[in-house]
Amino acid sequence: MINERVDTAASAVRRICDEVLRRQRFLLTSHARPDGDSIGSQLAMAFALDTLGKTVRIVNADPAPDHYQDFPGMDRIEIATHVSADVDAVIVMECSDLGRAGISGLEGEFLINIDHHAGNKLYGAVNWHDESAAACGEMVFDVIRELRVPLNFEIATHIYLAILTDTGSFHHSNITPRTFDICRQTVEAGVNPAAMARRVFDSNSFGKLKLIGALLDSMQLADAGRLAILHMDDGMLAACGCTHNDTEGLINLPLTAREIQAVVFFKLGPTGDVRVSMRSKYDVDVRAVAGQFGGGGHKNAAGFTVVEPLEQVRPRIIQLLVDAIEHGLKSRP
Ligand code: 5GP
Ligand code: MN
Repeated sequence: MINERVDTAASAVRRICDEVLRRQRFLLTSHARPDGDSIGSQLAMAFALDTLGKTVRIVNADPAPDHYQDFPGMDRIEIATHVSADVDAVIVMECSDLGRAGISGLEGEFLINIDHHAGNKLYGAVNWHDESAAACGEMVFDVIRELRVPLNFEIATHIYLAILTDTGSFHHSNITPRTFDICRQTVEAGVNPAAMARRVFDSNSFGKLKLIGALLDSMQLADAGRLAILHMDDGMLAACGCTHNDTEGLINLPLTAREIQAVVFFKLGPTGDVRVSMRSKYDVDVRAVAGQFGGGGHKNAAGFTVVEPLEQVRPRIIQLLVDAIEHGLKSRP
């Protein structure tokens, strides 16, 4: 018997392809503060639509971090927080709700929603939501294959970029044989995994190395060393000659300590705004914690923006994380 999930996915992919093939002009977007999966998913889709002779615009609310800038097609991404789109469809990737894009003017358009975040609001005219995908790039890969577009080097590069980054360089728990099967195909299409890892993970500035030192130096531990707490503000960034663009990946550093099961990273902005990022190992569910504060993400990677004063919510965040660690450790096989 054919597995029901596979069946549902196949019909969603078919529906997306039908809608794409009968349209000409597309706008692609993804979430604000893009990461490797949002960049890779959008550009893989863009290069595939080019092959079909479609007209493609890509619009993001924020620029991508510097180490993505020399990947193919990056110069195609327009940065804007409002669009008046004269297009036949908008493909929104990696967004559990349309607000995550941070772009106004998309609401009335024909929306195709492709996403793997838990709690997707199914806001599109067509929705494909698959939480089991290790990256949205895996889903984009399926669409591209169904469109019968050959996996050229640019598409393969962006699919691999999406998977490499969204799995935390193959550390997170949502990796399946399918993940490696897709990666295998991208490598056959010319992707060099060693070069990709170097480009993405070994491209730090000296300033970023200094920032790593400052962050780890001020790291606090809670829950008998099982929870790491990081703080960063603009003063620390300036002292290291860094910007917010240099902070990607820093949150993973404490997880390299054997005892540490989860990390919470408080990023204090200039206007008193606070972004909270969390990462965890195995079954420690940080998405559930983010959900308590209006955020979201995945079991091992989630985030939210603090709306109340930080000193008021901080103890609650820490306590919820300690509980999540406790629960996660109990359910570990
Ligand atoms: P990061 O910590 O890198 O900003 O985000 C980790 C994961 O959580 C990503 O999958 C990201 O999309 C998700 N995430 C981060 N912040 C938010 C948020 O405010 N709302 C929702 N729904 N998801 C978030
Ligand atoms: Mn993703």
